[in-house]
Amino acid sequence: MKINKNYLALEDSYLFSTIAKKVKAYAEKNPDKKIIRLGIGDVTLPLCSASVEAMKKAADEQGTKANFHGYGPEQGYDFLKEAIKAYYAENSVALEADEIFVSDGAKSDLGNILDIFSKDNVVLIPNPVYPVYLDTNVMDGRKITYMDANEENGFLPMPDPSVNVDIIYICSPNNPTGAVYTKEQLAEWVAYALKNDAVILFDAAYEAFITDSSLPRSIYEVEGAKKCAIEFCSLSKTAGFTGTRCGYTIVPMEVKKEDTSLNKLWLRRQTTKFNGVSYVVQRGAEAVFTKEGREQVKIATAYYQKNAQVITETMKELGVWFVGGVNSPYIWIKVPEGMTSWEYFDYLLENKNIVGTPGSGFGKNGEGFFRLTAFGDADLTKEAMERLKSK
Ligand code: PLP
Repeated sequence: MKINKNYLALEDSYLFSTIAKKVKAYAEKNPDKKIIRLGIGDVTLPLCSASVEAMKKAADEQGTKANFHGYGPEQGYDFLKEAIKAYYAENSVALEADEIFVSDGAKSDLGNILDIFSKDNVVLIPNPVYPVYLDTNVMDGRKITYMDANEENGFLPMPDPSVNVDIIYICSPNNPTGAVYTKEQLAEWVAYALKNDAVILFDAAYEAFITDSSLPRSIYEVEGAKKCAIEFCSLSKTAGFTGTRCGYTIVPMEVKKEDTSLNKLWLRRQTTKFNGVSYVVQRGAEAVFTKEGREQVKIATAYYQKNAQVITETMKELGVWFVGGVNSPYIWIKVPEGMTSWEYFDYLLENKNIVGTPGSGFGKNGEGFFRLTAFGDADLTKEAMERLKSK
């Protein structure tokens, strides 16, 4: 018996455990201090009542012989796929129901999609990055090349025509940087992918935070993208589903490689290895897309957006360089000259009792930067910003 040795090549992820350890040690030594956490990537507001009511009703149905649901379709129930289809149509993206695959969240599908790609493919990953893209490819032993996201390109790297890759990861609005690609910039990526016969894996997990209507919420708003892109989305940040679990992946019929439809391969993969998302959760997800649900989740998103605004206004006042915070729940700030990301973490924890996330934890280009999130409590976010402004 042999293990998958690629797992031994994974770098240990100490980022969040180190943060937790440092915060715990500080809190134990300083029990009188009120620590404000602006490092979390999880939501803090509850589910909207439309979803809760829909799930209660669905749970009751499961308790009756007449309305009980056993195994559902692996790709998701039609009622939810139709709701997602209508949501995309609002941005002039026409999807077929069979192009939509309901999942238990974007993270699993981002990892699982690699099943349908050869391990020989060369992968292009931005740095800094959401670690899942990197680790899932390391697990498969795929060759990884990086594209630099940095201050010069506003943390939005563009294609390099001299580099030839097969699989490209794009996350917009971005985690960790909060940077958002314009339609014109995404069009350059689509042109590159079509020219190089590459596939784009587009992570739209934060699309709900886009308020500027000129910015694309889906890569399919760009012409030609349906021939080369797979899109991953999630209700985690859109509707507070981080603990409820529901997302969806779009694999257009038109994406073909080696004369083979990727939709067909993904369908085969899912019907073999996945038995679908629970009926109750899919009813809760469907409710997010109703008029009532949409109004309710908008209120929660606006709450986080207000937090983001409080943070960005403070950064402007303090003359701190940053990206994100507009059209995104993440604010990516430059740490003071001469400090590393971790030194700034320690400084903020010990002097201002604020917790954030050191940028270096997301890759080498994150060194010298720091991630703050808008998912915290509104009053505490304001208090944290007042602390930053005070000497
Ligand atoms: N993609 C990005 C960029 C994320 O930041 C996250 C979660 O933080 C996910 C995907 C995973 O989302 P889900 O909860 O749907 O698995």
